[in-house]
Amino acid sequence: MVLKESEAIVLRTYPLREADLLVTLFTRAEGKVDGVARSAKKSRRRFGGALEPLTYVRAHYEDRERRELARLDSCEVLESPLASEVTYARAVALAHVAELLDELLPDREPNDAVFRLALAVLSGLRGPDLWLPITYLELWMTRLMGYLPELSECMTCGRTLNGSRAFYHALADGLVCIDDKRLASSEISAESRVLAARMLRAPLESFAGAPWPEAQAADLRKFLIQTLQRHIEKKLVTAGMLEKGGF
Ligand SMILES: [Zn+2]
Repeated sequence: MVLKESEAIVLRTYPLREADLLVTLFTRAEGKVDGVARSAKKSRRRFGGALEPLTYVRAHYEDRERRELARLDSCEVLESPLASEVTYARAVALAHVAELLDELLPDREPNDAVFRLALAVLSGLRGPDLWLPITYLELWMTRLMGYLPELSECMTCGRTLNGSRAFYHALADGLVCIDDKRLASSEISAESRVLAARMLRAPLESFAGAPWPEAQAADLRKFLIQTLQRHIEKKLVTAGMLEKGGF
């Protein structure tokens, strides 16, 4: 069996038997890989802090014949989220990154664009502003998974929405104009749509520096989360925690 090596982001761990951990990695080479870290709970020496969720690591693992789970041989920390202070808000934001990657990515399918996005967002989350990286992540994950509708025209009549009001509904794709909106729709502001268009054209770092209060683009985030949840047909636990806010 061949020992593989890849950069990876640890998404989650789960106790398995007495001393082992089941680890879900988002590897750069192969996408999402589930593996077993033998004796990881006993031997802190082999894995140290490398299996904390959202740690950026270099992982060595091998696939075993006729088994779904890889065997995780070792992990070296390249960048740990624990290197910066982990406040409650930051912990929730990090958990949100892990949940989105874990829920949206298929197993064993490499996606370098998502990998680069995840690294940029993790780096952004080291700064004081959490809402900027969170918004950027939700927008780009929606786009990269192919779930982002056209934001500049009405899905029903095709009219341009630039410069006019736009609405969305939890059960329908895309945005509609005021004449086509259904009951119980929510509005997404022109400001947030302009911001989304800018974020789709520029790297995350280029937005750093300007303050980003929680209220900024909150309607965009709500729209994105609804879109994602409709596609994966389940609730994102961390989205609820973020919405409660209080950060
Ligand atoms: Zn319309």
